[in-house]
Amino acid sequence: MKYIDPHIHCVSRTTDDYLYMARSGVVAVSEPAFWAGYDRSSASSFHDYFRHLIDVEPKRAARYGIDHYSWLCINAKEAENVTLSREVIALIPPMLDNPHVLGVGEIGLNKNTRNEITIFEEQVDLAAKYDQMILIHTPHLEDKHKGTSIITSILKNDKRIKPERVLIDHCEEHTMKMARDNGFWAGMTIYPVSKVTPQRAVDMMEIYGTKMLCVNSASDWGESGPQWLTDTCLEFRRRGHTEAEANEVFMNNPCRFFGQSPKWKLKPVEGLPPTDTHP
Ligand SMILES: [Zn+2]
Repeated sequence: MKYIDPHIHCVSRTTDDYLYMARSGVVAVSEPAFWAGYDRSSASSFHDYFRHLIDVEPKRAARYGIDHYSWLCINAKEAENVTLSREVIALIPPMLDNPHVLGVGEIGLNKNTRNEITIFEEQVDLAAKYDQMILIHTPHLEDKHKGTSIITSILKNDKRIKPERVLIDHCEEHTMKMARDNGFWAGMTIYPVSKVTPQRAVDMMEIYGTKMLCVNSASDWGESGPQWLTDTCLEFRRRGHTEAEANEVFMNNPCRFFGQSPKWKLKPVEGLPPTDTHP
């Protein structure tokens, strides 16, 4: 089957990972801007990082037949530095027209601090002003429920934001309902050391359903990898779900969310009959 990794940090990955993804059936990836594993010292560092996202990665991916899209922002962790954040935000508008850029992300909260909230609100405003889709990072572990609740209420209070054009990522059992009941898309991240395992992910799909849900690997410089998404497809099929059902979750849902941007090229693979073939 063909599928999409809707959240992966290719800048941190080797070319072997593109080869692995191509062999496994990945036809497109989306890469939000994030923390590099260290705090950057100036806005010009971000400028170079954005150039890497919009110029270098699409070419590297294309060699393996993979479409590469990206999202621009300052991440929540570095948003603690409000002055630097504002310099970075000012760099973004001229790049939003790039044919590979889908919107503003991954914005959100890390430790739910006042400064993070200020910069989150300013980037929501940026997305609204430029009519961009939004990809949201929610905090880890004990800060997740509170952070997701702050994020959803800020988004809902801004009447310019259409919830169906926002994906709230890194949802878990206690936040999945909050995202989708408010009309947002939910993302689930298969990153076993700090987030969800393939088994837990498929449990959640079976309990909460797969409507408006995108599953990703969020692979980065940590212990992670695109194979976790493949393993989740396999676990989903192992439990008896059909290939057509797998297509809905791993291919068609990302196509539907990203397809709200005219830049996104792939279409859902409608009408594929269920088969017994293993993905
Ligand atoms: Zn990420």
